[in-house]
Amino acid sequence: MKKLSIIVPMYNEEEVIELFYKETKKIVDSISDKYDYEMLFIDDGSKDKSIDKVKELRKKDKKVRFISFSRNFGKEAGIYAGLKNSKGDLVVLLDADLQHDPKYIPKMIKYIEEGYDTVTTLRNRKGESKIKSWFSEFFYKIMKDAKNIELKQGSQDYRMMTRQVVDAILEIQEYNRFSKGIFSWVGFKTKYIEVENRTRAAGKSKWNFRSLTKYAIEGITSFTLKPLKISILIGILISAIALISALVIIIQTLACGKDVPGYASIITAILFMGGIQLVSIGILSEYVGKIYLETKNRPNYLIREKSEDEEKD
Ligand code: UDP
Ligand code: MG
Repeated sequence: MKKLSIIVPMYNEEEVIELFYKETKKIVDSISDKYDYEMLFIDDGSKDKSIDKVKELRKKDKKVRFISFSRNFGKEAGIYAGLKNSKGDLVVLLDADLQHDPKYIPKMIKYIEEGYDTVTTLRNRKGESKIKSWFSEFFYKIMKDAKNIELKQGSQDYRMMTRQVVDAILEIQEYNRFSKGIFSWVGFKTKYIEVENRTRAAGKSKWNFRSLTKYAIEGITSFTLKPLKISILIGILISAIALISALVIIIQTLACGKDVPGYASIITAILFMGGIQLVSIGILSEYVGKIYLETKNRPNYLIREKSEDEEKD
């Protein structure tokens, strides 16, 4: 019998844990003739009672396992820890808030059995605000520059993969983990399936405009050097404009005997240049900062408690 690992990163999700367990259990029970399961909750330093809820579940069902971080390390770290500690032949990532409907699991398994290595879900952006959609489209446009990965619009972290793919992903040791990019970077035979957009069952989303922007910058700087190239282009363009305007001024003074225009224009030009330079340095420092964090070689997460701990005593 094969084993399916269900990895659930969670952060302050006490309101949905039980519901999540019930819904997901129903689905895995329907395929229990062929697949055993484990449900691995990664508690990302929740400040509420999430972990107690999981411990309660474990009292009844030993297939529930958990890892609890020493603080909030972010969902990417949670995914990494989940993959690392999973034991199944197949692994599926699910959000705790039931936005990833577990009903697709049997369908995903079917595709894997057909020979695909990984199955990824795509959601439509129905019901999302215009601004958010616009920004996400803009993000995917820039990401197109990253030739070695293919990011599909609407692809989400709800995906299933074989052990082979999990091992490949774990081989990537980088600290700045942009999972969406990493999943795509490793390649393998991927099947995309469309799923409906679902709203959160309970609780609040942990994302806001700021964190989404940060996430997008993270993704872009992890996988493409396009912003650096853009800043070089802007530099060249401005130098060209400056050169032309210098020529114009020289000709005007020498040939036409006109006065050099006042310094308003000079100040404007200086400010403009200063701005561009700061932006370019800013872009550059995003990358330098990345190098800094990578060279420190810090662990992606620290574990405070594990479900297996209790068995040892
Ligand atoms: N999550 C996490 N660590 C964090 C933030 C979120 O493990 O720092 C989990 C969260 O509990 C949920 C999943 O990641 O299971 C997706 O988060 P959320 O629902 O807030 O994001 P959204 O669905 O709004 O994109
Ligand atoms: Mg959600």
